[in-house]
Amino acid sequence: MNYNFPVTRTTNPKQKPDPDKLPFGRYYTDHMFIMEYEEGKGWYDGRIVPYAPLELDPAAMVFHYGIEMFEGLKAYTNVNTGAVQLFRPDMNAKRTNRTNDRLCIPQIDEELYVAAVKAIVDVDADWIPQAKDTSLYIRPFIIATEPYLGIHPSVTYKFIIILSPSGPYYPNGLEPTKLYVEDTYTRAALGGTGEAKCGGNYACSLKAQVIAEEKGYDQILWLDGMEQKYVEEVGTSNAFFVIGDEIITAPLRGTILPGITRDSCIKVLKSKGYNVNERLLSIQEICAAYDKGEFVEMFASGTAAIISPVGELCYKDKQMIINEGKIGPIAQLLYDTIYGTQIGKVEDEFGWVIPVK
Ligand SMILES: *Cc1c(COP(=O)(O)O)cnc(C)c1O
Repeated sequence: MNYNFPVTRTTNPKQKPDPDKLPFGRYYTDHMFIMEYEEGKGWYDGRIVPYAPLELDPAAMVFHYGIEMFEGLKAYTNVNTGAVQLFRPDMNAKRTNRTNDRLCIPQIDEELYVAAVKAIVDVDADWIPQAKDTSLYIRPFIIATEPYLGIHPSVTYKFIIILSPSGPYYPNGLEPTKLYVEDTYTRAALGGTGEAKCGGNYACSLKAQVIAEEKGYDQILWLDGMEQKYVEEVGTSNAFFVIGDEIITAPLRGTILPGITRDSCIKVLKSKGYNVNERLLSIQEICAAYDKGEFVEMFASGTAAIISPVGELCYKDKQMIINEGKIGPIAQLLYDTIYGTQIGKVEDEFGWVIPVK
């Protein structure tokens, strides 16, 4: 289907930020995509307008009950052809609908979703930064707008896409991080919303993050919410562990976010013949492997940083230094392969790269 979203161009274009000093997620482009939903009418009036504040009723349900979801993906310029391209946007559309289902937000046609992402990126394509390790971060999100203080699914919503020219998520790039294994707070329980990409999962994670930072750590390694035994996620990214020659990541059983980068890592590693398993991994197994010298590498995966190596892990009073605090070979291989594919430097073996037009 051919989607044609009307475009109202800004008459007041903003000055673009310095591409060499670009932070993550602080600047926004000139335009945004907006679409409305009303019960009985469905999604309608998808359009591109100048980036501007929203006017909402103070009783809108998003403010009171957190009925909202979001996604994150990036646009890149192909280093060979100059074409603007996306990485697996169909996966974000599918995940949006899984999140929506969990939160009783109406489904969105996945083709329309990807067409909307392409349309807004195309309008603001001159905002895609070109410096190394920069990209245009794309943030689609949905908010419940019905003014109502009772509890039921909202009858009106807005679907919005904003764009943020961004530098590396971690200012130190591929510098390994220090993690604290959280053993008081939890972020997700079986049957909860751990696998949905919604703001509530983030609000409840802040306290543990702040405490870890006060103790001198960058991020948290979350344990499962039932026994506080099995490793789940690093902050807001997926976690991978290398023990001997086995690469392990937590299984998708409802408590972790099914990361698209996680899925890409698994597929790249399998295609290269690595022994990668999605299985429960206890913190005790990690500590024992560390004592035997077999816990050789750890990294996190997510759209924002792609791969973030971990140099140190602290569980209660056990301090583990991983790979002498340096990035390991598997993290480096995945970063080079996935980032290389995204910018067209590495052949797109899996058909993951989608041109904007
Ligand atoms: C978005 C997110 C991830 C990473 O998913 P990607 O699709 O790889 O960006 C991991 N964990 C949480 C909690 C997330 O919200």
